[in-house]
Amino acid sequence: MVLNKEFFDLPTGMIYLDGNSLGPLPRQAKARVAEMMQDEWGAQLIKGWNVAGWMAQPSRVGDRVGRLIGAPEGTVVMGDTLSVKVYQAVAAALNMVPERRVILSDSGNFPTDLYMVQGLIQSLDRGYELRVVAPEDVADAIDDTIAVVMLTQVDYRTGRLHDMAQLTECTHAAGAIMIWDLAHSAGALPVDLESCGCEFAVGCTYKYLNGGPGAPAFIYVRKDLADGVEPVLAGWLGHDAPFDFDLDYRPASGIERMRVGTPPVLQLSALEAALDVWDAVDMSELRAESIALQEIFIKEVEARVPELALASPRDAAQRGSQVSFAFENGYAAMQALISRGVIGDFRAPDIMRFGFTPLYIDADDVRAAADHIETVMRDRLWDDPAFLARQRVT
Ligand SMILES: *Cc1c(COP(=O)(O)O)cnc(C)c1O
Repeated sequence: MVLNKEFFDLPTGMIYLDGNSLGPLPRQAKARVAEMMQDEWGAQLIKGWNVAGWMAQPSRVGDRVGRLIGAPEGTVVMGDTLSVKVYQAVAAALNMVPERRVILSDSGNFPTDLYMVQGLIQSLDRGYELRVVAPEDVADAIDDTIAVVMLTQVDYRTGRLHDMAQLTECTHAAGAIMIWDLAHSAGALPVDLESCGCEFAVGCTYKYLNGGPGAPAFIYVRKDLADGVEPVLAGWLGHDAPFDFDLDYRPASGIERMRVGTPPVLQLSALEAALDVWDAVDMSELRAESIALQEIFIKEVEARVPELALASPRDAAQRGSQVSFAFENGYAAMQALISRGVIGDFRAPDIMRFGFTPLYIDADDVRAAADHIETVMRDRLWDDPAFLARQRVT
């Protein structure tokens, strides 16, 4: 049993099916941040960098995240946002295969990953091409013109899961570099980066890892490569000796070179406390419970609300930790659900998305959510001007 509702400060009565977008507040994170403000920032001021270990936080927390994704110690470091980490990984990867010009990704990827590559290509101005194919066509599109394959394991809209081991193997057989985005994987399902063998992985910590809004991203570089990768964002804290204040950049050894600037200490403190819940969690048990919850949800919703069409793979082994249904008035229907305390979200054009996190969701919550969905749909509660007006964040 991985259920640990007490760990989280969830509003009473709320059924939170959106931990795939923003995890809830861990009680210990609240306490830890308050304490950090008082005892460290407040009392220590600048001494905190040494006395409270702020400077070592990015790699210390990186190691803890690493344990959840099968990354050995010293291969993961925290910082920046995922968009920036994508840029760093792709830029470093391109330099490892200088004779090739194509970056391959898929149309199920989250747009910022594609945008960052588009921007990078433009600034490099060396004739690179971003090739985007349908998720199911990725394996066939990997050939020896490809420099880098950049994929997100779990599709943010449908929850469709890529086979990391198989696609990494194809990529390596073609002589290309593999980058995995684990945004919807870290804390959602077992990941074994070491055995997968990919060169790079990136991900964020405000989704399933519950680090809070704006929590920093992570980047993984395979151990044998870390001393050789070129950190294109050559910030002072990725320098070998930042406090020598050399005029020329010289990368730090190992994963530290993927640091850029000052770490977000408050956010890292929140994340560090949030990670405590994982100390006792077995990822394969979590995965089994996540699947069990998803199966109940699909069965209940389909039995009661036939007008919602399953937009996720039916086979649980092909899904991450979310279930999506397509409905043309999905935005309004989700707003109606939110007004009743069932929190999911909406992804254009018509996806109603529900995340399943067995740390704080149980089977009763899932059945209660299905009751609300049935009521909203049966009584057309979504058909209300208050629910039809789109807000900025959906
Ligand atoms: C959530 C998510 C992001 C978000 O990037 P930020 O820079 O943290 O805003 C990027 N990529 C993927 C695949 C995501 O799911």
